[in-house]
Amino acid sequence: MSALTTDVLVVGSGFGGAIPAYYLAAGGARVTVLERGPRRAAADFTHSMRLGTYNKIVDVIRGDGVTVVAGNCVGGGSVVYFAASLRAPAFVFERRGSLGHRLWPAALTRARLDPWYDRVEEALPVTHTDWPDVSYAGGVLAAACHRTGHTCNPVPVAVDTRVCTNCNWMLSGCRFDAKRSLLLNYLPAAEAHGAVIRALHEVQSITPSHLSAYRYAVTYTVLDPGDYTCTAEAGIIHAKTVVLAAGAIGTPVILQRSALLLGGIPSAVGRYFSGNGDRVSVADIDETKARTLLGLSRPDGSAYQALPIGRPITAATFDYLDATAPEYSRFTLQQIYFPPLTNLLAQAYDATWFGTGKRSMRARWRSWLTLLAMTEDDNEGTFGLPPLTGSFARLAPGLGQGTMSYHPNFRTRQAWSKADIALRTILEKDGLSHVQPWDEDVAGTVTAHPLGSARIGDDPATSALTDTHELHGHPGLFITDGSAVPTSLTVNPSLTIAALAERAVPAIITDTSSTGVPVRGGAPLPTQ
Ligand SMILES: Cc1cc2nc3c(=O)[nH]c(=O)nc-3n(C[C@H](O)[C@H](O)[C@H](O)COP(=O)(O)OP(=O)(O)OC[C@H]3O[C@@H](n4cnc5c(N)ncnc54)[C@H](O)[C@@H]3O)c2cc1C
Repeated sequence: MSALTTDVLVVGSGFGGAIPAYYLAAGGARVTVLERGPRRAAADFTHSMRLGTYNKIVDVIRGDGVTVVAGNCVGGGSVVYFAASLRAPAFVFERRGSLGHRLWPAALTRARLDPWYDRVEEALPVTHTDWPDVSYAGGVLAAACHRTGHTCNPVPVAVDTRVCTNCNWMLSGCRFDAKRSLLLNYLPAAEAHGAVIRALHEVQSITPSHLSAYRYAVTYTVLDPGDYTCTAEAGIIHAKTVVLAAGAIGTPVILQRSALLLGGIPSAVGRYFSGNGDRVSVADIDETKARTLLGLSRPDGSAYQALPIGRPITAATFDYLDATAPEYSRFTLQQIYFPPLTNLLAQAYDATWFGTGKRSMRARWRSWLTLLAMTEDDNEGTFGLPPLTGSFARLAPGLGQGTMSYHPNFRTRQAWSKADIALRTILEKDGLSHVQPWDEDVAGTVTAHPLGSARIGDDPATSALTDTHELHGHPGLFITDGSAVPTSLTVNPSLTIAALAERAVPAIITDTSSTGVPVRGGAPLPTQ
């Protein structure tokens, strides 16, 4: 087993990892990033659902009552995500949940996070889109909103819309480098400042280091690129500072596995998991009604049938983000697209996965409008005992069995029910469509937005991290990924995760500098 040293060890290379990696390296620290997934670039991404392509970089992880989709590659979720980039509304930061006290640290409000949001929007950068950028499906949502007296807006995206071909293969990675993933900004900038990114290195545990001047020893295994269940070698890296950013499914598991040797792991680690209140529904659009009610007609003679055309997320209504409304009644409704593979999760109201019913459902697939409600859930997810290695038991490339469980309580169900009613009000008026939420019996709650499993907060009994993202009781161990986000956000989370990571950087630099590392803050944005 080889042993190395570094000033700062970053675990994971998604938003939570890439951002500190850049600033620490640019400030002069020796930075090593360990990333479990492979390294890919634009030329490697395929327009194919063939096994061995996308499923090498995306994982579907099944738990008890929940299924999580997450990136597994250098760049993490940013490589496979749909790039909707939204700031969380101000009321989110005031949320109290069923615990009855403010869940975000007092130091954090939307106004205080705004300067950090500004930085991320500029660095990625984020494009503020207009109606010509909206897909046909997004336009149908907008038209249905308009008919029912609601507003609808184009969604800002971390996509260079001048380069985007609207190919709709965002889940497989962007062949055109139009999606502004972390492969195009923070990560190359970190490497330009000497950061070393080691792909296919899966971190297993963190223990106190026995080397003087080093605080933590991080153990890892190197995965076989052909078969992630095979381990090629193992090693240890000693670090003065550790930034844990293995995502909300990976981070708590590493800490749980390290608990005995580290000691004093906060009880909030592996609790308070949130799926961002996500709830996916399908509106099965009646083509005749789309023609008569919305006045639509396409060159091929159909009225809609455009579900697979265009970028996955282009439009949303923000009418239900009313700060004066009670908690568990505020949400965003967003048009989204999932590849046909996920039809399994979307059993339509008059069909089943089997037989003729299935055939008729598939025949109508292009007439669907898929919708994502992002609501206020109650952080009711928990993690069981960690597996021997990894974040979950890998069953196949792209498929895992995790230890998380999520059983929505009545508050979350109330939030979902309000979103369901709103969707029906907008999309079922005069028979425009029939709306059906994805069947929970198939895969439980499905989310690509895991959050909260090691969250920031002022109360050590219900949070794992200080407001500067340091693990309570463990100086020099920071967590900057989605697990740090204390509540669901009512919008897509990546911009908030990234803004929080930007905000955490000065404290990580100060702490690292206190160990004698000559690191300075104040580096410019990676793209400046
Ligand atoms: C298909 C899809 C579409 C999405 N669309 C959007 C969207 O439009 N807008 C939005 O805001 N969000 C979207 N998201 C969510 C967004 O991608 C995530 O919220 C975000 O990437 C989370 O950032 P993170 O740093 O917490 O974790 P991640 O980006 O998941 O990064 C964690 C990294 O850690 C690595 N890792 C895990 N365990 C280990 C280990 N033990 N050792 C080393 N490395 C490890 C993982 O491989 C991964 O690369 C989408 C996600 C998916 C999957």
